[in-house]
Amino acid sequence: MLFLRADLAELQAYSTHTYPDLPDSLDRLDANESYYDLPPELKQKLAWFYQQQMATNRYPDAGQGELKQLLAGYVNYSANLNVPIDAAHISLGNGSDELIRSLLMATCLGGNGSIVVAEPTFSMYGILARTLGIPVHRIDRSPQNWEMNLQAAQDVLQRDPTVRVVFVVHPNSPTGNPLTEAEIQWLADIPQSVLVVIDEAYFEYCQHSLVERLDKHPNWLILRTFSKALRLAGHRVGYAIADPELIMALEKMRLPYNLPTMSQAAARLVLQHHDQLINLDEVCTEREYLYQKFQGLPGVQVWPSAANFFYLRCLGDYGAIVQAMARHGTLIRHTGGGLRITIGDRSANQRTLERLALVLKAHS
Ligand SMILES: *Cc1c(COP(=O)(O)O)cnc(C)c1O
Repeated sequence: MLFLRADLAELQAYSTHTYPDLPDSLDRLDANESYYDLPPELKQKLAWFYQQQMATNRYPDAGQGELKQLLAGYVNYSANLNVPIDAAHISLGNGSDELIRSLLMATCLGGNGSIVVAEPTFSMYGILARTLGIPVHRIDRSPQNWEMNLQAAQDVLQRDPTVRVVFVVHPNSPTGNPLTEAEIQWLADIPQSVLVVIDEAYFEYCQHSLVERLDKHPNWLILRTFSKALRLAGHRVGYAIADPELIMALEKMRLPYNLPTMSQAAARLVLQHHDQLINLDEVCTEREYLYQKFQGLPGVQVWPSAANFFYLRCLGDYGAIVQAMARHGTLIRHTGGGLRITIGDRSANQRTLERLALVLKAHS
C-alpha cells in the first residue's frame, strides 16, 4: 500500500506467542506479572464501584487528580525523600509503554534525536523508537555480571550529538541486575541536554529506587508500573516521576482520556492496600530457593536477580526449549539471547524445575 511509510514493512506487530495443544492449566511465567490475581474482597469493591458509582456514558477523569494524589503518597512512603513529591511530579500512562512512546515523541520525533539502550534489555524502547523512525544506538553489557559497557556508551554520547535519551532499567530485564554505583555515577554525569530514563518496573521487588536523587537531576525521569508487584497488568497503568517541567511536556503529549475509569479506580484501590498485595517476602524466599536449584541444573548458567524473574543461559535451541516447556505446561520467555523465567509460588517453581530438567535433557 503506497500510502504507508516504507520503513514499516520491516516491523512486526507485537503479539504474544501461542502454541497449539497446550494443557488447560498453565503456569504463566513468561511476562513477569505478579503470580496472584487481586483478592476476591478487592475485586468485589471494584465490582461495586462499577455497579453503583461509575457512569459508563461519561468520559474518565481527564485530570486524574485523585489517583495522582494517592500515587504521590505511595512514592513518598516508599522512599526517603528530602522534599516530598506531589501530583505535579507525576504523569500517568496506559501502561508505562505509553509513557515511553510519549517520551520518544517529546524528545526525538521528526529527526530531532536518537536514543541509547544497553542490550540485552527491555525491548519496547527499541521497538517503539523504530515505529517512530527514531534511530537506536545499542551498546553491550558484560556477560559476567551484565553491567553496561560504559566506555561504549560514553563513546556514543561523544560521537553522536543527536542522542537525546538514555534508557536504563533498574533492575534490568531480562538479566535481573540492579544498577551499580559506577553506573549510577555515569548517569549522574550525563549532560543536561540528554534525558535519562530509569525504568523501575520491578522496584517493589528490589526496594532500591533512584527517586531519592531526582531533585538533583532535572534530566532524570523514573518510570514505574502497576503491571508487576501491584497485580494490575490487566488494567494498564504506568507512571512517570520527574521534574514538573518535564512532566508538563508529557502531559502535552498525552491523549486526554488515556486511562479508563475502571483502570483509575483499580489503581486507587491497590494503592490503598499495597502492603497486602506486594508479596515481597514470598518472592525473596522463592528467589533464593530457585537460584540454588537453577545452579544445580547441569549445563545451566544463572545470574542473581533483584527482581521477580531469572535469566538463564544453556546449550540447545532456546525456541525449541520454550515450546517444549509450554507443552509441559510452563510458559517461559526466550529473550535477549537466553531464557527469562518469572518466579511463581513454591509448587509452580517446583514444576518449573522438574520440567526444565526434563526438557534440557532432551534438548542439549
Ligand atoms: C513489564 C515492564 C514494564 C511494564 O510495562 P507496562 O506497559 O506498564 O505494563 C515496563 N518496563 C519494563 C522494563 C518491564 O519489564
